[in-house]
Amino acid sequence: MIEFEPVIGLEIHTQLKTGTKMFCPCKTSASEAPANTSICPVCTGQPGTLPVPNMKAVRLGVAAGLALGCEIREVSIFARKNYFYPDLPKAYQISQFDKPLCEAGSVELDIKDAKGGTYTKTVRVHRAHLEEDAGKSLHALGSTQLDHTLVDFNRCGVPLLEIVSEPDMNSADEAYAYLIELKKLMQWIGVSNCDMEKGELRCDVNISLRPKGETRLGRKVEIKNLNSFKAVKDAIAHEIVRQTAALNLGETIAQDTRLWNEKEQKTVSMRSKELAHDYRYFPEPDLAPLRITAAFKEALKQEIGELPKARKNRFKTEYGLSSYDAGVVTAGKGLSAYFSACMAEVLTLKLNVPAKSVLNLVSSEFLARLNGLKKDSVTLDPGDKDLISPANLVIIAALTAAGKLSASAAKTVFAKAWETGRDAQALVNELGLSQVSDTGLIREWALEAIAANPKAAEDFRNGNEKALGPIVGVIMKKSKGTANPAAANSVIRELLK
Ligand SMILES: [Zn+2]
Repeated sequence: MIEFEPVIGLEIHTQLKTGTKMFCPCKTSASEAPANTSICPVCTGQPGTLPVPNMKAVRLGVAAGLALGCEIREVSIFARKNYFYPDLPKAYQISQFDKPLCEAGSVELDIKDAKGGTYTKTVRVHRAHLEEDAGKSLHALGSTQLDHTLVDFNRCGVPLLEIVSEPDMNSADEAYAYLIELKKLMQWIGVSNCDMEKGELRCDVNISLRPKGETRLGRKVEIKNLNSFKAVKDAIAHEIVRQTAALNLGETIAQDTRLWNEKEQKTVSMRSKELAHDYRYFPEPDLAPLRITAAFKEALKQEIGELPKARKNRFKTEYGLSSYDAGVVTAGKGLSAYFSACMAEVLTLKLNVPAKSVLNLVSSEFLARLNGLKKDSVTLDPGDKDLISPANLVIIAALTAAGKLSASAAKTVFAKAWETGRDAQALVNELGLSQVSDTGLIREWALEAIAANPKAAEDFRNGNEKALGPIVGVIMKKSKGTANPAAANSVIRELLK
């Protein structure tokens, strides 16, 4: 058996957040509209019509390119990609070919490895270009029992940005992390909503295998139209197994386009792969070259502001967080603003609490409740009255860090503060949850606990460390969970010496 290494590249189509289509004034809210109601002579390819580029789509395309660290071409060219399909009435799609809007970018990923550690991986972005979407075919079985297909042109001309990565990923996990990062980036700068259920983010996977240590690429297979992150991960895992088995039997991998069958959890061949020359690309004669000035780029850069990677690095240096932790709280623009607001409160309230303690509370109790409110880390507003206030959250973190609140009591207070919006310190006092570190009081409880468990006390004296457990348990019960466990432990040891 030869050991193989998968080589993976992704092509992602993301719908740009415009009100109207790429080359005509039809609305893009087409997916919700009744079939064929958001169409016009331009997007249905009637003779004599002319396309007019959507300025907002161009702005968003450039913004996305800047966020991906791409070089933005001063002059890019729209091109016709010719193919016939019933849902494409023009018989060509306006796209970009040899002179795309954006080239040579990169995305940095933090990935968890099998041993529980993390590593950083850079995936290069080959190019990103503007294009229009095609319509949708609806295959149905008619009343006469004859198959028929209906076409809906509403999606024809919806603006897309196609982002093509280099084949830099080597596992399903890396491909998954890349998708998450790209989605975060597009949402962060407001380029796309990336709602996969609405078809606003679609993914094609290119995957080949090669013997470990080999630098040349193997023959690649394309898996088309994957519409969930899980499908991407599962399809890649399946292809790795399928191709490994075939290669070990000495078979050649057919260079084909495959579809993912969710139900059977396998890929099936759809057709042999088309090559670029099959599309007879040529420059779109109805559109002038697209010129992007340096001033336009500069203005957009200012508008975009701090990007996730820069914010992550700032959090690392400002708050001493690990790369992975900083990644957690910069997973969405709103969440990172909330965390910033928390750290600002730490200063205002002059609290002595490590950033890591605040982060732990944000990434556990806080995030767990966010989904319940149907809010997400992207659009989250730190001042939202439905959330626990940043000040209240850091007070709980500070009390826990100082040993004044046990981990379980902190959860109780957090839940109450979230529900009622009341002051955390007042809740701690009212619920009698202050952690007791007073050794005098703990000593009283410990004496009673030892008296109630003479056997355990004897066992501990004879060297059985585990016998301490039931005694500490009694102290916790007597103190209603408020005894500081470390203090309780040392008091018992002292008493039993
Ligand atoms: Zn139209």
